[in-house]
Amino acid sequence: MPDNSPRDDTACSGLPPRGTRRKIAGRLVIASHNRGKIAELRDMLAPYPIETVSAAELNLPEPEETGKTFRDNARIKAEAAARASGLPALADDSGLAVDALGGEPGIYSARWAGADKNFHRAMEIVEDRLRQRGATTPLQRTARFVAALCVAWPDDHVEAFADSVLGTIVWPPRGDKGFGYDPIFQPDGELRTFGEMSAEEKHDLPPRGKGLSHRARAFMKLAEACLA
Ligand code: IMP
Repeated sequence: MPDNSPRDDTACSGLPPRGTRRKIAGRLVIASHNRGKIAELRDMLAPYPIETVSAAELNLPEPEETGKTFRDNARIKAEAAARASGLPALADDSGLAVDALGGEPGIYSARWAGADKNFHRAMEIVEDRLRQRGATTPLQRTARFVAALCVAWPDDHVEAFADSVLGTIVWPPRGDKGFGYDPIFQPDGELRTFGEMSAEEKHDLPPRGKGLSHRARAFMKLAEACLA
């Protein structure tokens, strides 16, 4: 059984002590073909003296995501891109984990949208399954977005980080910003879904923004450890 447990996946055990992290410098591959993710990661990397190129732009093949956790899959993608390009590569593996669905869709978040990447359909599946379980109140519809970030170097060194943001699944979907499951995810403490927020509101880092999203939170850990 795949481990969709976000709690397990956001634990940062086994990390090297502070100061022993490898720093990212020069050119970095963003190991993704997902335009939404590439844009968010580029925004977050913008303040740093790093030149980014995406796996899509380099025409790198997408490896099969055979891992059982977000962290495993982030590592598979980062290592594949680092080996294929000869450059350090940053991969994100992320997804939506709905508590009443036992953490699903979890690592299968992209796959629920099918080959045609129909996220409206994927959101409908989430809603259908919540209804089948009688989950109608906000307390029964708690969820989290999880992001694992992994940087791999061509010499097999890796650094990994993960974090999550808690929220509630709403229906119908609201907002046309963002991507994926953003229109049905309302983060705790907010009145709007990610789909109703600007990119800056969703992932701008302090002091400009709140560092609200799972990706922004994992990125802050990465930045502290691996960026100058
Ligand atoms: P993967 O990491 O490539 O396996 O894909 C993760 C999938 O999770 C994406 O295709 C999205 O559907 C979903 N996802 C991850 N992060 C976000 C987010 O910030 N907003 C909306 N959906 C997301």
